[in-house]
Amino acid sequence: MRSIRWYTWVGIVILFLIATVGFIKIFNSINNMAHSDNMNVKVESEEVDHQIQLDIETKEAGDLTSVKSIPFTQVKNIDQTIKKWANEREQSFFTEMKESDLLLDYKTSAHFSLESQIKPIKDDIYNIVITEEQSAEQTSNYKKMKTYTINLDEEEFIHFEDIIKKSLSSNKLFKLLQNNSESNLNKEMFQKNDDLFSKIDWTISKKDIIFYFKAGELSKQNEKIEVPLMQFYSYLKDDYYEAFITDELDESIKLQQEEERKQKEEERKEKEAQNKEALQSRKMVALTFDDGPDPENTPKILDSLQAYNAKATFFNLANNAEQNPDIVQRIINEGHEIGNHSVSHANLNAVKRQKAEQEIINSKQMIEDVTGEEITLFRPPYGNFEDDTQKMINDSNQDIIMWSLDTRDWETKNTNEIYQTVKNNVEPGSIILMHDIHGVTADALPKILSYLNNEGYELVTVSELQPYIEGTNNGAYFGY
Ligand SMILES: [Zn+2]
Repeated sequence: MRSIRWYTWVGIVILFLIATVGFIKIFNSINNMAHSDNMNVKVESEEVDHQIQLDIETKEAGDLTSVKSIPFTQVKNIDQTIKKWANEREQSFFTEMKESDLLLDYKTSAHFSLESQIKPIKDDIYNIVITEEQSAEQTSNYKKMKTYTINLDEEEFIHFEDIIKKSLSSNKLFKLLQNNSESNLNKEMFQKNDDLFSKIDWTISKKDIIFYFKAGELSKQNEKIEVPLMQFYSYLKDDYYEAFITDELDESIKLQQEEERKQKEEERKEKEAQNKEALQSRKMVALTFDDGPDPENTPKILDSLQAYNAKATFFNLANNAEQNPDIVQRIINEGHEIGNHSVSHANLNAVKRQKAEQEIINSKQMIEDVTGEEITLFRPPYGNFEDDTQKMINDSNQDIIMWSLDTRDWETKNTNEIYQTVKNNVEPGSIILMHDIHGVTADALPKILSYLNNEGYELVTVSELQPYIEGTNNGAYFGY
């Protein structure tokens, strides 16, 4: 009994001494390091090329060592920024070691290092990847990455946001990262970062753009994700495409683009052929009625259309739409389409720019105020437009819709002639021009509808017909 107790006591005393000595030793080392006393400091330089060198600073104090290799470029703001960052990292390591429980846990050596890899990219652009490592004996290594891209000629840093086009949203970037990572990334974590694009650590290799994220930025651990430039190049601003994309890769990209173009062209042709076939089998035709709504004739026309379950398109004058909102609403309720036919039927080729603007743009707004829906079809009065008015129409998000079959209803004023004109000229894809302000048109319609119905024609709105007549030589119905 007694001898066991004696040995135990000796053991405890010895352990206590070891712990105290270890503690004092490492505590002194840290203090020395932090206060630059009793510290062994060595600085060496290594030339990378004529513009840039690597400064390697080694500090030793007891069992603490620190090695920092960082670039030196002779561009003041660049050198100072990197050096300031490096010193801050080192200081924070020392502070952490001081406060850490490691000191009480028999650990007697610790190591800090920054190792820079300098990659010339093009001309005066260099990429610097700094690996930071911290280790304390018997604890797991801590490692993280910091990157800088510098332009020595411009004497500035190049941030991620500087190299990309606006088309790269944080959503798109997240998708690219997730597609190229095996980890389950956290989108909320990613998008929570303020000025995400200015802070991202990135570097370029010949084939990839490489991203480094610290734990908590994209997932719980540090992430290194390589996104192939083949997937990323379209987001690079032209200058940086030139700087980052090698000739070899550029060739592959051009080949891929050519492949994609060919494939798209083939798909387009196939779609066109399918549409042509559908147009012939469904025999789609669009009836259009201009200049209304008219309180007397438009309702009659709507009744006839309803009887044949036919859909049509009404190109309203904005003034008339404003005066007949109930009829406009009925047109929409019954599944027809409303287009814009200007405010007051002005000849766009004969008016000044300001008036043309009113006729094209104000009219759209006026009709939308009545319908509550966006108006995207425009039929110019008399079919008249020139380059500048076409631009005005298209810029306000309206397609120009012409016609392929003119009934000349306003001229003949004869129901049979109107009917005969349709009967003799109609074909799948026709856009038929009529006017819902004439009684004669309303009177001719039942016979026309009966004929088209018997012949198996399907009466659809212009928007429904549009995709089926694209690329056909059935007349230029609409322009962009
Ligand atoms: Zn008209």
